[in-house]
Amino acid sequence: MRYDVAVVGAGLAGLQCAQLLGGNGLRVVLVDRKASVAAPVQTTGIFVRKTWEDFPLPDEQLGPGIRDVVLYSPSRRAIALRAKQDEFRIGRMGWLYLYLLEQCARAHVEWMPETRVIRCDARGLFTSRGRVDARFVVGADGARSLIAQQLGLDRNRELLVGIEEVVPPISRERVLHCFLDPELAPGYIAWLANDGEEAHLGVAGYRIGWDPAKALRAFRHTLPFPIGRAIEHRGGWIPVNGVLRNIANARGLVIGDAAGAVSPLTAGGLDGALRLTALAADVITSYLDRGDADVLREYSGARFHARFMARRWMRRAIRAVATPRLAEVAFTMLRTPPLRALAEHVFFSRGGSFPDVSVSAARSSRPAAAPAPSA
Ligand SMILES: Cc1cc2nc3c(=O)[nH]c(=O)nc-3n(C[C@H](O)[C@H](O)[C@H](O)COP(=O)(O)OP(=O)(O)OC[C@H]3O[C@@H](n4cnc5c(N)ncnc54)[C@H](O)[C@@H]3O)c2cc1C
Repeated sequence: MRYDVAVVGAGLAGLQCAQLLGGNGLRVVLVDRKASVAAPVQTTGIFVRKTWEDFPLPDEQLGPGIRDVVLYSPSRRAIALRAKQDEFRIGRMGWLYLYLLEQCARAHVEWMPETRVIRCDARGLFTSRGRVDARFVVGADGARSLIAQQLGLDRNRELLVGIEEVVPPISRERVLHCFLDPELAPGYIAWLANDGEEAHLGVAGYRIGWDPAKALRAFRHTLPFPIGRAIEHRGGWIPVNGVLRNIANARGLVIGDAAGAVSPLTAGGLDGALRLTALAADVITSYLDRGDADVLREYSGARFHARFMARRWMRRAIRAVATPRLAEVAFTMLRTPPLRALAEHVFFSRGGSFPDVSVSAARSSRPAAAPAPSA
């Protein structure tokens, strides 16, 4: 069997891409080294309002809305921010991935779990289970993408590492607590996201000279409230260089973290994974229909570079805050009205995540194929 498209990686980007391409009538295979899409999960799964407003995510797999954010300095001075409406919802990611896999099955996508891709060439993939022939390859294989390397595309250079524990809720309050503390989380934040049903306790930072597991243990012990035992451990790499420039060629393209579709400032990648994937599915469908390589020019990271400029500068500023003393100074500045307004903008504005791309064009590229009868 020769597929039209082999999608490598069944995270949010790969699942969404396979579903859209299958819905467009292409023969699609979705390959992942994991045995189940539901485990292990790497992400906290905090979705921003813009994402759940623009994409049809199942409501029951998103936790209760959160509109309160509290920022803390290393000495635990606090700034409380409150949005007018719910701005964040924590996805029940294992369930959400299973839901998307079911949508893929309805779009006739073939699912190949426990299949590690070893390399790819002009014929398609070479995997731990043998060859998979495909006209086009999509790399949705995460921050350190093998497919990007195999296709000769750009690769992420600036990465954070993040780890977290899912723990029982600390209270019924729905709050995102963010700790700006370069000793706990150099270059990023430590977080406690509590939606009243579950809580996530995590740290992320630049790896050099920093031990994330030790930092997470230290973070747990500094908190003034008791934290229950971990129900689940998560973690992974987070690219923060912004979307890469060269992300497509005649053999394939990359999406999601593999394309650097993550905000360099907030390190959120779920919105970018869905948004860039919608464009990718549109471009792939036209390319395979018409065989015209010019179509691939639409899918260039250079289109988004200007939109990432300010976020990349803010990332540099955060990285420069390397000592607790500097963090205290930065925190004092955050209390001034203009910087407080900037913080509110970063956390609560619709424009704060990934640039809008031609989602509507992607949705209307071809009529969806009739769903398969469910088994
Ligand atoms: C600790 C942590 C917390 C985060 N929290 C948030 C958050 O709250 N909100 C937010 O917006 N973003 C968050 N992010 C970022 C977000 O999780 C990612 O941007 C997003 O999940 C990327 O999805 P993806 O589909 O591109 O990649 P992934 O979810 O990484 O999926 C890649 C898939 O490829 C598979 N794969 C890799 N290599 C191969 C191979 N050779 N062969 C076969 N399969 C392969 C993997 O098994 C995996 O299933 C967080 C990241 C981390 C690490």
